[in-house]
Amino acid sequence: MLGNHVRESIIQARAELYAKTEWAEYHSHLKHRVHAKDLHKYFLLTESEEIGIKETIRLNVSASPYYLKLSDPFDPHCPIRRMIVPDSHETVLSPEESPDPLHEERLSPVKGLTHMYPNRVLLFSNHSCTVYCRHCMRGRKVSANDERMEEADLIQAFAYIKDHPEIEDVVISGGDPLNLPDSRIEWILAELNAIPHVRLCRLGTRNPVTLPFRITKSLLTILEKYNDDSLSIFCNTQFNHPKECTQEAKEGILRLLKVGISVGNQAVLLKGINDDKETMLQLHKKLLEMRVRAYYLYDPELIPGSRGFRTPLGKGIQIIEYMRGKIGGMGIPHFVNDLPAGGGKITLSPNWYLGYNPKTRQHAFRSALTGKVHYSFEPESSESFTYPILGENVWDQLE
Ligand SMILES: *Cc1c(COP(=O)(O)O)cnc(C)c1O
Ligand code: SF4
Repeated sequence: MLGNHVRESIIQARAELYAKTEWAEYHSHLKHRVHAKDLHKYFLLTESEEIGIKETIRLNVSASPYYLKLSDPFDPHCPIRRMIVPDSHETVLSPEESPDPLHEERLSPVKGLTHMYPNRVLLFSNHSCTVYCRHCMRGRKVSANDERMEEADLIQAFAYIKDHPEIEDVVISGGDPLNLPDSRIEWILAELNAIPHVRLCRLGTRNPVTLPFRITKSLLTILEKYNDDSLSIFCNTQFNHPKECTQEAKEGILRLLKVGISVGNQAVLLKGINDDKETMLQLHKKLLEMRVRAYYLYDPELIPGSRGFRTPLGKGIQIIEYMRGKIGGMGIPHFVNDLPAGGGKITLSPNWYLGYNPKTRQHAFRSALTGKVHYSFEPESSESFTYPILGENVWDQLE
């Protein structure tokens, strides 16, 4: 009976939160964001979650009423809930984990800028987001007030970019650049647009997922103004589960497309949330219906308190293998691993290539569609390539 009473009060508290939020106004969602101390009002918390909330070594808690509404108050396995509410895994620092596994600080010539690839840089624009995703790979900086990027820091970053004509592509991330005021976004885009060698800019933002109402007319006017012949603006967002693909999110994406911003998705492979072939296939089918192309599927990084989300490497490869043939290629992400210690990103693919027979000049493949072995011929060439050679007896036994 007591249980029922608690359940009713949670449903009631949720209804009140939704009612006091002006639903289509993003400011109202930001004002009514839910923080750690309020989670018990909106979720029937498990013991593990209560420990996580008290003792997390990761980022603060925040969720917009819009995103909270997608979560289940009573089911601790709800994928959306797991991205909002900390659990006890977040209190453990595993020996293999480090706050900066990718060595972004070492590769940072000025505050907030990582220059790892010659022609592109990562710009940390701000430390705040609408929802603080429990799995965030930038947990080191995100949600921490002392990581705030001041105007002077950004001016220094722009000066560095101006001084380096090899930089063609600026990836703006954080934090979430769309959590900056419009005026700050306009200034950043105007600065980048005015640097002749900067040709591309990418906004890494989760607001299309967590607060699609942020994509307002005035923001679109700014984006359209600077998305021109000297600067091509892309948006990379992060949908992780089909439950996130709502009508509101779709409308937000369509508004971006109308001002010529191409939208791609960078999902993160998360244990118990989307590390399942069919969930990942359904997610990418829904994304295509929203006109979002698949870009990356990230293998989670070794950041502190991340053990609850990390999956074996083979999971990601299996998922990509399953998807091939069941959805158009623009719906299949590249499975990437951002190598520890500043090695950059590499892609991992299922092994459909079986090997080469130099005698017959034939390659053997396993078909993703039929599951059978198929053959193809190697033309004569003056260049030489090395292929894994399959010996005659192996070759004869292929089936
Ligand atoms: C991921 C990343 C980029 C962009 O990589 P792409 O493969 O071009 O998307 C650039 N710089 C840093 C430091 C990165 O981590
Ligand atoms: S929106 Fe991005 S940067 Fe912000 S917490 Fe989520 S994953 Fe991290």
